[in-house]
Amino acid sequence: MKDKAFTLANAGDNTRLAHLGHDPMSYHGFVNPPVVHASTVLFPDCKTMETRAQKYSYGTRGTPTTDALCDALNALEGSAGTILVPSGLAAITVPFLAYLSAGDHALIVDSVYHPCRHFCDTMLTRMGVEIEYYDPLVGAGIEALIRPNTKLVHTEAPGSNTFEMQDIRAIADAAHRHDCVVTMDNTWATPLYFRALDFGVDVSMHATTKYPSGHSDIIMGSVSANEKHWPRLQEAQLTLGTCGSPDDSYQILRGLRTMGVRLAHHQKSALDIARFLEERNDVVRVLHPALESFPGHAIWKRDFKGATGVFSIVLKVDHEDDFKRKAHAFLDALSLFGLGYSWGGYESLAVHVNLSDRTICKAPSEGPVIRLQIGLEDVADLKADLENGFAAMAKA
Ligand SMILES: *Cc1c(COP(=O)(O)O)cnc(C)c1O
Repeated sequence: MKDKAFTLANAGDNTRLAHLGHDPMSYHGFVNPPVVHASTVLFPDCKTMETRAQKYSYGTRGTPTTDALCDALNALEGSAGTILVPSGLAAITVPFLAYLSAGDHALIVDSVYHPCRHFCDTMLTRMGVEIEYYDPLVGAGIEALIRPNTKLVHTEAPGSNTFEMQDIRAIADAAHRHDCVVTMDNTWATPLYFRALDFGVDVSMHATTKYPSGHSDIIMGSVSANEKHWPRLQEAQLTLGTCGSPDDSYQILRGLRTMGVRLAHHQKSALDIARFLEERNDVVRVLHPALESFPGHAIWKRDFKGATGVFSIVLKVDHEDDFKRKAHAFLDALSLFGLGYSWGGYESLAVHVNLSDRTICKAPSEGPVIRLQIGLEDVADLKADLENGFAAMAKA
């Protein structure tokens, strides 16, 4: 920002999102940062090269474009440093590789994003890390699970697909008494609706693929760490070479500019549709943290500043043998809601989720679980589309 009295630090979310990360006057007044495509960076002389006396040294180590995004994310997260990685999944695997070694024990929440579990059960296990899944509702009780070799406690709130809320502060306090690093997959809330580091999380991970991108066309992840845990994260990033690309960084920063207004719309539409679904007889439960009926609602209300546009419903299907057939009839009859993975874009999506990996938070027994991403379409149209799904399910 210009050298004037106004400071962004105390400004509102949308003001910050509009101005964070790039000072137009640092680049000829252009509102957006340049997209720097780079491997080689030249040095004026050997002494500068030898003493690393200039800001940029090589394309994998950051450019003005990646810095603009990292600066914006650091401001939003309140973090000491941020790395950009090629996917949201890498935003989990890279920090796990940074903080875990053979012989260590890691506690992973059972309602975790499934590919994280796959990484833990295959590659991390092969490398000699012992993995244990814990109940998302454990709270301060996590302390009883911590062993002398426990090095990392991974959280995700709300949980993937079933939306269990976690008492992040209580878990972080207990973990820190044993010097464990506390990581959180904070993709659902974004730093706008949950500032993870303010609640004791050391390392906040995001699939920026989702809301920061907002248009279903970018795959990227970010990891932001506090002062204590930043050096090791940065070191792992440089060691592994998992850097973010300039074009994707540019697009994610572009997405951040409108993320606040998009999220407000997603939030309002999703809650409206969640309440509409809650009233129906063909839906047994709506798994949405902002609904008063949801078991984790009190934690959500205490700790989170908002709810985004993704939640699940449990369809009412009497016999387990019919779960799949009824779910497919419902989904295949939808036309505005696309059938596909991921979320966070402008368009609505619906998918039948598979919870067979769970060891503690088992799949609901009353019916199939359908995850909905409520996009930016008009709510009346989305409701009409869902009505068609319910009609087809009744006939199937
Ligand atoms: C989508 C998602 C990821 C992974 O992001 P990708 O960019 O698709 O690899 C990680 N965590 C959560 C909670 C997600 O929803």
